Amino acid sequence: MKYAKFLLALPVLCFALFISSCVQESDPIQEDVVEEGFQGELSADQIDMVESLDYNLEDAVLQDFVYPDGTTEKQYIIEGDIAMTIEEFEKLQASPEELEATIRQYRTYNLCDAPQTINVIGYTGGGGYGLTNKMQTALGWAINNYNNINTSLSFTLTYGTNFNPYDIVVYRVPNGQVGGVAGFPDSNGNPYKWVQIFSGMDNYNTNTNEHVITHEIGHCVGMRHTDWWNRASCGGGSESANPDGAVHVSGTPTNIDWNSVMLACFGSNEDGEFGFYDKVALEYLY
Ligand SMILES: [Zn+2]
Repeated sequence: MKYAKFLLALPVLCFALFISSCVQESDPIQEDVVEEGFQGELSADQIDMVESLDYNLEDAVLQDFVYPDGTTEKQYIIEGDIAMTIEEFEKLQASPEELEATIRQYRTYNLCDAPQTINVIGYTGGGGYGLTNKMQTALGWAINNYNNINTSLSFTLTYGTNFNPYDIVVYRVPNGQVGGVAGFPDSNGNPYKWVQIFSGMDNYNTNTNEHVITHEIGHCVGMRHTDWWNRASCGGGSESANPDGAVHVSGTPTNIDWNSVMLACFGSNEDGEFGFYDKVALEYLY
């Protein structure tokens, strides 16, 4: 079966960084996790989840981030589809010694306050930024994914154009690309507000749209890519779409969860549902 893989965003610029390899190593850091206070009965996937709260900055790109009204702001995109303001990004460019501490602090405040009701709006305005009917359906399914698991976050959903009062705004970006972009919670415990769904998703079915929206909302509440350290789902760390050979389980690390909705790259026939360990991770965090 042909199984095309798509990045959840396509970087347009390369940006060299002098970041210590400490954030890029793929070796397990279980000892560090324990030292940080996560003792107990963590499964391998839970450890992966905690590990994955660190950042891989090596492929960050600076690009225009567009809002539903068409205005833009320069932001960094890390790991393919995670938006970060320049101020937030520069905070992560500290010296290697400071970086580790910064990341740990950052992880802490990059989670949403809980319990919390998160009000979501699917944008239906014009200019190409309104969600299609298919995307609106997919958004409803994605919100159901989150409301059907056992966390202290609850989500409401409406559709319309008055997005200012809402916690998360899901909108279409008419760029012809396939995928989406979101970001991480802010320092006040709020989810990231903006979820972009690229217009190329028009060509994929509702389940695959559900997958991308569920994935991006996962970022909004602090979820990282399950395979952030090697982007195995993208074909072994390539930043280019890799149409062949991306999903070869043999030879891949045993701690990759191929059922995760939070893998960095996705295929054209996703079911849109959480993997078992996605639920474990979310229920662990919230
Ligand atoms: Zn992502």
